[in-house]
Amino acid sequence: LNDFPFAHVLVLGLAKSGTAAAKVLLANGKKVRVNDRNATKEDEVVIQLQELGAEVIVGGHPIEVLDEIEIIVKNPGIPYDNPVIVEAERRNIPVITEIEIAYSLVEGPIIGITGSNGKTTTTTLITEMLEKSQQPVKVAGNIGIVAIDAAQSLEKEESLVLELSSFQLQGIDKFRPKIAVLLNIFEAHLDYHKTLDNYVQAKCNIFKQQTSDDYLVYNADDNIITDAVRHAKAALIPFSTKKKLENGAWIDEEYIYFKDDKVISRDEVVLVGEHNIENILAAIAAAKLDGATNEGIRKVLSIFSGVKHRLQYIDTINGRLFYNDSKATNMLATQKALSAFMQPTILLAGGLDRGNEFTDLLPYLSNVKAMVLFGQTKEKLEDLGHQAGIKTIEFAGNVEEAVKKAYAISNVDDVILLSPSCASWDQYRTFEERGDMFIQAVHKLV
Ligand code: ADP
Repeated sequence: LNDFPFAHVLVLGLAKSGTAAAKVLLANGKKVRVNDRNATKEDEVVIQLQELGAEVIVGGHPIEVLDEIEIIVKNPGIPYDNPVIVEAERRNIPVITEIEIAYSLVEGPIIGITGSNGKTTTTTLITEMLEKSQQPVKVAGNIGIVAIDAAQSLEKEESLVLELSSFQLQGIDKFRPKIAVLLNIFEAHLDYHKTLDNYVQAKCNIFKQQTSDDYLVYNADDNIITDAVRHAKAALIPFSTKKKLENGAWIDEEYIYFKDDKVISRDEVVLVGEHNIENILAAIAAAKLDGATNEGIRKVLSIFSGVKHRLQYIDTINGRLFYNDSKATNMLATQKALSAFMQPTILLAGGLDRGNEFTDLLPYLSNVKAMVLFGQTKEKLEDLGHQAGIKTIEFAGNVEEAVKKAYAISNVDDVILLSPSCASWDQYRTFEERGDMFIQAVHKLV
């Protein structure tokens, strides 16, 4: 661990990242206390950490867990109004996340990606662009791989590509990526961050330690971001879908450019959706700054059809195009998905009822010729369909049945799109499970 002058550490919240943090701290001779409300003494990780020398307190968050503690490594999911954190702040005990520990394990370049939307897509694109350019690289972070685990197995010449949520970024201090990417900032997660200012601040932590040796790739079309980056010290590398840029990534009718270099023609790009153009521009800029070649970038963009469950192209069956956007658990995501297509579209939607109306989808339904609806919200969505003047609206018991019904009423060149606009928990454990059912149902049609 470089630059980690704390002897007695509290790891708050176990999960995968807390466990990894506790282990690495113990291995580096730190005194570690672990506190998890939901864990029990019988849990395998608890027993294992105790054997490694950790003191483990489970079942609640008593204030005494703070006694003699010099720093806290907090799970990103634990809110800052947790009484232990409130008390720690009163006592001036610093609170960090696992990302800060991972950082102190890494010697080589880090590419950090954040934004309200598009993180996973952009992170994946950057990683693949570097791989296809023969640049050694590992990926981790919010994408589902614990950053500490990746950091520990990193080879000297490898770059680390890190997807970073605002929750993770709120708990960093020295973290300094060689290349930071700031995609977009929408009002989100205000239950956690309380105010938009705090949320913007957390996102902007990504560049706060950068110096003039580093790069900040940012969305020049996003007003909150252009305002925020005026305080950055890194070299600014903008991207824009709206204007030509001397010093960044941009686009015209025919090509995608980095500075004055034509990187790829637009018709070679498989990924659909205007929002994905933003992700592509950001990814190109970051990957080029870390040594990617145009050839490597083209290899990726000419086959990359989307991260699983995110407006992911599945197949074309008898001229019908199937897309899985199961990750679309809110209206904003479904708006983006519907905007991606000019063709007549059959929309598969519905799921958990959170009490909201769906009227914000109305302006996006002009290409939707039919709806197949399922889950708790199916009647609400039916009302919406009637308001939009959609003639064919059917109900289905689940996503598999919805696929069959959609196929039965479809024509050649139709898009059949799963973009539920709702969480999946009324019928599925996760949006992944819902999307997997869609994919399997599509394959069964053949
Ligand atoms: P994240 O990791 O930030 O959740 P993903 O790449 O997983 O982002 O995409 C999730 C959803 O967010 C997509 O299905 C799409 O609807 C939407 N989205 C993706 N990229 C953007 C973008 N650049 N701007 C706005 N919305 C986007």
